[in-house]
Amino acid sequence: MNQRPISLLPDVLISQIAAGEVVDRPASVVKELLENSLDAGATEITIRIDGGGIQRICIQDNGKGIPKDELELAVTRHATSKIQSLNELESVMSLGFRGEALASIASVSQFTLSSYPQGQECAYSISNHSGAWQIEPSPASPGTTIDVQSLYFSTPARRKFLKTEQTEFFHCLDVVKRMALANPAVNWLVYRDGKLQSRFQESSWSARVFSILEAMANGASKPIDVQVADMQLHGAIGLPDAARGKGDMQYFYVNGRFVKDKLINHAVRSAYEDVLHGDKFPAFVLFLNLPATEVDVNVHPAKTEVRFRNARAVHQWVRHSIQASLAPSRAVAPLSEPV
Ligand code: ADP
Ligand code: MG
Repeated sequence: MNQRPISLLPDVLISQIAAGEVVDRPASVVKELLENSLDAGATEITIRIDGGGIQRICIQDNGKGIPKDELELAVTRHATSKIQSLNELESVMSLGFRGEALASIASVSQFTLSSYPQGQECAYSISNHSGAWQIEPSPASPGTTIDVQSLYFSTPARRKFLKTEQTEFFHCLDVVKRMALANPAVNWLVYRDGKLQSRFQESSWSARVFSILEAMANGASKPIDVQVADMQLHGAIGLPDAARGKGDMQYFYVNGRFVKDKLINHAVRSAYEDVLHGDKFPAFVLFLNLPATEVDVNVHPAKTEVRFRNARAVHQWVRHSIQASLAPSRAVAPLSEPV
C-alpha cells in the first residue's frame, strides 16, 4: 500500500471514530444522554423517540443545566465537569467521566442542546450548522434539552448496520427501563413517534421493579439486603420457579451503573445452581455498592464493563449472599467478612 506522510486527523473525524465505540446505535445515544441527565440531578426526564431514534431522539430534563459560557465546552471532546485528575477518576461516582459523549453524538447527527441553568437570564442553545457551532437565545424551560436528529446521516456505513426502526426503538426503551429501575425517585416519560409509550412515576423501589418487571411481582421474587464491611448488596432475586427460558430479566448494577460482567454472571448463576436446572435463567435486579476505589469503571468507552480490585472476594460474597437468601433454611455457613 502507498503510504502517505503521517498527519493529525481533524477533530470531527476523531469524534466520528470514537462515536463507533461510544454511540454505535440509537440506544447508546439514549444511554449517554440519560446518564448526563441523572448526573445533573434531574428528577423529571422526558424521552421522545421518532423513527426508532434514527430520525430523532429528544431528551428533556430538569437538572442543573449548563451555563451559556460552558455550552461550547460541553460539546468539545475530552471536556468534562466530572473529573479533573487521575485521583478523581479512581474514585469517580458519576455515571459519566470521559467527556466525549456529546462531542461524539454531535459529530454524527444534527445536534441542538438548549439549557437554562438557575440564575441565568434566559435559556441558550448550541447547534452544529455546517461544521460550526452557533449559540443563540432559546425558549427552553429550566434544565437541559438535547435534540439529536438524522443520526448517522454523515456516516452511511454505520447506518447500514442498524436494525428496523421497531427493533432500535425497543433497544432504546430497554435502556430507559434499566435507568428507571435504578432511579425510582425520578419521573420518566417515553414518547414513541409522538404517542405516550411508557410512564414510570416516582415510586418506591419495589413498586418500580414490579411495574417494569411484572414477572417478579406477586411473590415470584424475594427481597435481598445484605451488608458486610463496606460492601452492600440489595435488590430482588427471582424464585427458581419463576425462572424463564430467556435471560432478559437480569439487571446488575455496580454503584448505580448497569453493568454486564462475566464474573458477576458467573457468581449469580452458581448461586442458583442447586435450585435451578436446565436452561432456565433466573430473574434478578441487584445493586452492589462498594467504595469507588474498589472498582475500575474505565475499562471500555461504553462503560458497561467493570473490573473489581478484589474480584475473588466480590464473586464469593455475591454468590454466598444470593445462595443464603434463596434458601435461608438450608445450612449455608455464614460468611461474615469478605475473603
Ligand atoms: P461526561 O458526561 O463524560 O462529562 P459528556 O460529553 O456526556 O461527558 O458531557 C459533557 C459535559 O456536559 C458534562 O460533563 C456536563 O458538565 C455537561 N452536560 C451534559 N449533559 C448535561 C445535562 N443534561 N445537564 C447538565 N449538564 C450536562
Ligand atoms: Mg456523559
